Amino acid sequence: MQNSEHEIRVLIVDDEQSIRIGCQRILKRMGCIVKDAACGEDGLEILKNEEVSIVLLDLKMPGIDGIEVLRRIKQMDENVMVIIMTGFATVETAIEAMKQGAYDFIPKPFEPDHVRLVVDRAREKIILRRETEKLEKERRRTLLDLGTEKSRIRSIIEALPNGVIVTNAEGKVVLMNPAFLRQLKLDPELKTGESIKNYIKDEGLCDLVMNISKGIDGSPEKIYTYEFSVPENKYFLARGRSVLGEYNEYLGAVIILINTTALKVLDQLKSEFVAKVSHELRSPLSTIHEQLALVLGEMAQEEQSEKETHLLSRAKEKTQGLISLIGDLLDLSRIEAGSTGQEFREIKIEELIGSIVDFLNTRAKKKKQILILDKLPDKPIPKITADPMALESIFGNLITNAINYTPEGGEIHVKIEVYDNNICIYVIDNGFGIDSKYKEKIFDRFYRVKNEKTRYITGTGLGLPIVKGLVDSIKGKIEVDSTPGEGSTFKVILPLENFS
Ligand code: ADP
Repeated sequence: MQNSEHEIRVLIVDDEQSIRIGCQRILKRMGCIVKDAACGEDGLEILKNEEVSIVLLDLKMPGIDGIEVLRRIKQMDENVMVIIMTGFATVETAIEAMKQGAYDFIPKPFEPDHVRLVVDRAREKIILRRETEKLEKERRRTLLDLGTEKSRIRSIIEALPNGVIVTNAEGKVVLMNPAFLRQLKLDPELKTGESIKNYIKDEGLCDLVMNISKGIDGSPEKIYTYEFSVPENKYFLARGRSVLGEYNEYLGAVIILINTTALKVLDQLKSEFVAKVSHELRSPLSTIHEQLALVLGEMAQEEQSEKETHLLSRAKEKTQGLISLIGDLLDLSRIEAGSTGQEFREIKIEELIGSIVDFLNTRAKKKKQILILDKLPDKPIPKITADPMALESIFGNLITNAINYTPEGGEIHVKIEVYDNNICIYVIDNGFGIDSKYKEKIFDRFYRVKNEKTRYITGTGLGLPIVKGLVDSIKGKIEVDSTPGEGSTFKVILPLENFS
């Protein structure tokens, strides 16, 4: 069966019935749909109402002659293929017919094979033309789709409230939206095409964009973030990732700018509020704590009831907990406000850590734990210039945690190593350990891992955020390695270049 694409409708216009019948037979056998008319007028009428691709047309007919019919057919639809049939085949008539746009010429009388051959050729041509038209239509539609898609995406990017900037592999800007220009207060008429350095002043961000564009650290999936501020106390978070080509080659980068000023202001207000409240609460709480201690001492002398002593001791413990919480909150506020690390001094890190270990040994001994500073490296440890308070707080917190989260009789080692221009300090315990799913979370404020082993250990959940804040402020790094049930190692890396 032929499908509609290959369906050919043929009209025979001839006044001789025998010719019409003969041709019908031949053409139907060829799979064509055939109609016929005995004169030019009837033929033209059919053509007006029905779709016909080929016309077999007799030249000599009563009424309108063939050449005129041909002319009118061509006027109606020049794609119709007209094959002239005539018993008066002369060179002149043939030339005339061809001039009027006839496709071919069959002299009468003819053999069926001749008709078949000519119609077949015309049919091939029609099918070819239909296919070309179909392809062209598809091509136009795809182009149209692409065009609409492109302009739609462009409109979306233009309308985005966040700044968007796209660079090529050399770090040149190829696209940016009005929000980007507005956010960085750049000239709204600024054109693309220049290096990213001509649009963004923050050097750190420019370097990052260059690196992402070229794929320097080879992590195409990674989303990089960078915080920066611009004059008038505006804060932004840039999020960027590489753009890859068909063969995974680096084509550039796409960066989105999010205005975080409101969040920053809120954060500052919150820190100020917390600092104020903590400050106000500290003295009355300390007074309550001291008075509870006093009453407890006197009560012991007067041998008051055991229940009362118990209640007062609990109250004293709780106020102590609150005082530590307030101390931690104040420390955090100071770190967030950037008011730590002001007093730089030359420090021998082994001495500073040695004295913390000595100080905390009393606490460790109460839990029958061994707390030692391991043998120092043979080579002398370089002195560093840093804020001793910050370092004391970092290692004080880490070693206290190691004591708290290691059962009685456990061992805590503190180790100092120097390599690759870094001083590395390890606090290693054989305590409860931390499940890998909590390794990031423990640095969040107030986060405490709650399980059977840790539930009775008091704490604020602020120690590690303080440690992290301080390590960041002195441009160091902190890493955790831990296996539940075996112990944890907290490693602090101090790059010497940041401490000279
Ligand atoms: P806190 O000790 O006051 O709860 P931190 O911020 O210092 O708060 O620690 C957060 C959580 O991390 C702790 O509650 C504890 O579950 C876990 N953690 C910290 N240090 C260790 C450690 N050395 N071993 C096991 N768990 C630890």
